[in-house]
Amino acid sequence: LKSVIMRNANFEKSGIEKASTSSTLATNSVGFTQNQKNKTKVIFVMGATATGKSKLSIDLATYFSGEIINSDKIQVYEGLDIITNKITEAEGRGIPHHMIGFVDPNRDFTVDDFCRHALQNIDIISKKGKLPIIAGGSNSYVETLVEDSKFKFQDNFECCFIWLDVSKNVLYKRVANQVDEMVEAGLVEEVRGMFVPEADYTKRIRRAIGAPEMHDYFMLEKDTNINDSTKNEKLAHAIEEIKVNTCMLVDSQFRKIQRLREELGWKMHRIDATSVHEKCGKDAEDEWMKEVLEKTITIMDEFLK
Ligand code: ATP
Repeated sequence: LKSVIMRNANFEKSGIEKASTSSTLATNSVGFTQNQKNKTKVIFVMGATATGKSKLSIDLATYFSGEIINSDKIQVYEGLDIITNKITEAEGRGIPHHMIGFVDPNRDFTVDDFCRHALQNIDIISKKGKLPIIAGGSNSYVETLVEDSKFKFQDNFECCFIWLDVSKNVLYKRVANQVDEMVEAGLVEEVRGMFVPEADYTKRIRRAIGAPEMHDYFMLEKDTNINDSTKNEKLAHAIEEIKVNTCMLVDSQFRKIQRLREELGWKMHRIDATSVHEKCGKDAEDEWMKEVLEKTITIMDEFLK
């Protein structure tokens, strides 16, 4: 990130809050011809889980003086920080994040709630002269925000969609490693803390991948009539299920993004981060700079011009 931060020192902030002040007709990011006058510019960082959306959005917010609005419908809830993969304070690098962990886990948070809060936050961020960056994996929520006529999004905002993509086989391996890291970080203890035998896994935060999968294990964990090896097998099975279900989430997120591109005509800038995930350590960092960050910055420079 060093060279990026050096470039950042020379970066001019003008042009972020509002689009061109001249009244020109142009094709906007979602593919419609509209008057671009006085539209606030908004960045979307989209992509499947585990691709690196959080890191990219934090790098972009650092470079372009932005703030991040979370668009993951499970991360909006307070709690279950490990299984929902919320960023840590260190990973956040001081960049303000909005709409993370702010909803009571016993309340519903609807897609309309998401849209209203997102609009409020875009307004607050842009009035500060900062760039709003919406990042997260809940594509149906983002679709409603941009497409539902009652929110008039396309009348008021000019969008740049960044799609961080990673080839499926590489991403599945990353998902498996990430679940193992979550287990090391205390996944079992975290989910046990919320466990109740009569839990409803169709609602609110308990929909999070990792909660329903652990249910059967917790049901027999305390049973003294069941031997340890049976318990360990049940736990291993639950962890395997978490991996499989997260890969299924990856597939469904990929399909939704394809739909936004192909059926709704959203102009997505696809950034391929596969090579980053195939490398480790310093090599991965260098690859990230070259293949992901530099390319995204070029796209955004053009958009913010
Ligand atoms: P819709 O597309 O209508 O919003 P959906 O809830 O099936 O429906 P997804 O966002 O694809 O849409 O999520 C699928 C499921 O994956 C969720 O219901 C939830 O169980 C799980 N899930 C989604 N995001 C996360 C997350 N960040 N952490 C853990 N589990 C998640």
